[in-house]
Order: sequence, then structure tokens, then C-alpha cells
Amino acid sequence: MGGNSFDQLVEIFIRFPGIGPRQARRFVYFLLALDASSLLRLTNAINSLREESARCERCGYHFLKKGGKTNLCQICADPHRNREQLMIVEKDLDVDSFKKTDSYNGLFYILGGLVPILEKDPNKKVRLVPLQKIVKEETTNSKLKEIIIALSANPEGDYSTQYIKELLAPLLTNTATKISILGRGLSTGTEVEYSDPDTLRSALENRH
Ligand SMILES: [Zn+2]
Repeated sequence: MGGNSFDQLVEIFIRFPGIGPRQARRFVYFLLALDASSLLRLTNAINSLREESARCERCGYHFLKKGGKTNLCQICADPHRNREQLMIVEKDLDVDSFKKTDSYNGLFYILGGLVPILEKDPNKKVRLVPLQKIVKEETTNSKLKEIIIALSANPEGDYSTQYIKELLAPLLTNTATKISILGRGLSTGTEVEYSDPDTLRSALENRH
């Protein structure tokens, strides 16, 4: 990392999703132009973020603790959610997108990324081991009826879907649990993150 704070911030912003070197520098100049109270609010909010939030030990979703001591997010802890369905998504934002459709009431599981195509040990990049554990548990007590793989319609998403299907298949023999995949109301190349609620709803209805 560069020695001075300007370069350090540029290097940090470059690691943000979708941010290049030029934009990273724009952000730092923006920070330089901020008034003292806005800057203080920003640094305070960043400092508090970790403290006030937690990662669900079951599905991996980041959530605000709101004083509660639970290790489970509001979705996993909600007794009214349908425990017969588990939807596998890439990231937190995808959970938010599907929640907005109002047409899915099951549980989620966040992979934390897509399965890299050229990677000998994808477990290092994606949360596949805890996924297998959950599927094993939930099929043993025969609660789980359907696993919905809901990944983006791009080459890495398709590869991940196939990979996860093959990974889970041995765990599902002699169980009543089936795997389904989002219908391609999502046109090719579409990412879940950028799909509107209607598109996601129809992709969900047309799952196969
Ligand atoms: Zn959760």
C-alpha cells in the first residue's frame, strides 16, 4: 500500500465493485472537498458499520443487529418463512432483490461469489462446504423439499449452477428434495442484481 493517505484511499476505492483508478481518484478529491461535519459522519458510520452488523451463521447474509444477540438474520429467524424452500444466490444484494418481488417466502443461502471456472479449489472462494452441511441436515430431517439455484445468466453463473447441481446431487439421492433453476425470463447475460422485480418474479415462476 502507498505511503500517503491519498494513495492509500485510491488503492482502497479501486477495490470497490465497478470502480476504476480514475473514479477512485475522483472519490478522494471529493473527500478532500467535503466539509468537516460530513467527513466526521462518514468516518463514524464506517466505524460503526461492523459493530452494528453481523453475518448470519446460517445463510451468510449481513444484517443489522438492532441490539439483538442473535446469530441468525431476520429471514432465518422468522418462523413464518417457508422452510421447505432454499434459494441459493450469489450475494447479499440478490437476497434484497428477491425479497422485493414478494413472491418468494422460503429461505436463502449466499454463496459469497460465483464458482470460478479456472480454480482447482473453489471452496476457497465460495461457501460450498457450509452449503453441503445445511443441505445434509435439512434433508435428514426431511424439511427441505426444493433447492432453487438462482444465479445470473452469464457463463460463470451457468458454470456455477452446473457445479452446484453436481455437488448436491449425491446428497439428494433417496430424499424427496429436488433442485430447480430459474427460468430464463432473465435474458442471457442478465445479472440478478440488475433485474427488476417483475423479471425476477417471472424467472421464479418459470423455474424448472
Ligand atoms: Zn440468515
